[in-house]
Amino acid sequence: MFKLIYAPGDGIGPEIGDVALKILRFELDKYGVEYKIIPILFGGVSIDKFGVPLSDDALSLIKNSDAVLLGSVGGPKWDNADPSVRPEKGLLALRKECEAYANYRPAKIYGPLKDASPLKRSIIDRGVDIMIVRELSGGIYFGKRSEGEDEAFDTEYYSRPEIERIVKAGFECAMKRGKKLCLVDKANVLASSRLWRKIFGEISSDYPKVETSSMYVDNAAMQLSSAPYKFDTIVTSNLFGDILSDEAAVITGSIGMLPSASIGKIDIFEPIHGSAPDIAGKNIANPIGMILSAAMLFRYNLNMSGPADEIEKAVDRVLNKGLRTADIYDRSAEAETAGKTLVKVSTTEIGEAILNELE
Ligand code: NAD
Repeated sequence: MFKLIYAPGDGIGPEIGDVALKILRFELDKYGVEYKIIPILFGGVSIDKFGVPLSDDALSLIKNSDAVLLGSVGGPKWDNADPSVRPEKGLLALRKECEAYANYRPAKIYGPLKDASPLKRSIIDRGVDIMIVRELSGGIYFGKRSEGEDEAFDTEYYSRPEIERIVKAGFECAMKRGKKLCLVDKANVLASSRLWRKIFGEISSDYPKVETSSMYVDNAAMQLSSAPYKFDTIVTSNLFGDILSDEAAVITGSIGMLPSASIGKIDIFEPIHGSAPDIAGKNIANPIGMILSAAMLFRYNLNMSGPADEIEKAVDRVLNKGLRTADIYDRSAEAETAGKTLVKVSTTEIGEAILNELE
């Protein structure tokens, strides 16, 4: 029995969550997966009810589950809350409790949305479909630090087991994609990066089908915006991955479209955007980031590429038909190409259209 925790959260979370859940249920039923979906309160809504963003009861349900599907948390209502009980604290606690050590962030440009990218068409036309596998639980964000008036330091510390598991995650991911893996580091300067390179080289012999390369992070930052088509899968440290995954996201031009997975003891799937309080409750949010998070759940948690492919293709077809939520309608309307008429639709309408494609 596949046990899924569903935590829609705050702001647009429940709106996009309901749509994504329908699609997820449809594919689970279609493939005959036995499942149970357990809803929990998480984030601001949990603070309102229990005084904390992640209650003990919710946590014990999570610890007995196979995966978590998250909406988004936070909003102005809780901005002045005691920092120890802010909604975002719940997110950090969740990642820690789930021992999520690998963050998968795809950046893909959908054909019909090419004009939403800030990059030149001549670059985009060569295709952008990148997956950044970022180490999430170690490195400089967690290393020893000291902060004084006149000096301060942070430490980039990585142990062999930490590097091995994330590098393996990178190879496994590359195997499910284009079988090309690039290690991004700063091995010309950092000792920790040199250990990453050594271990990357050792593990590569277990994956002879994967074509490997390595690149310094400064070069990778340039290449991502000048020649993103060169990349398939990237594996990198926490700090470099944090920066590069945001750079990669921006080149797709559509924050509402991007999913993510955090893999560990219990895997977490969520869109990369926040709770968008400015548009919450209006049925205009783009649910595609969350729908594609459900597709990632199939591919990376249930190891089922069939439903993952189907969901991704259904999203493609709906975009190709010209259906757009407001966020992607506005940016692409000007560039209406080949006589295609764009139709502005609501959260629920685009969800229904994707479900219809699947049916
Ligand atoms: P945001 O991602 O919520 O919104 C940024 C902009 O993008 C807004 O204009 C919003 O309307 C738009 N947007 C985001 N998602 C969209 C979607 N699916 N469809 C259409 N438009 C969308 O970032 P923010 O405004 O900086 O943060 C709002 C709240 O979310 C804050 O409380 C923040 O702490 C929280 N937050 C939560 C997460 C998370 O849950 N993982 C991540 C980031 C921010």
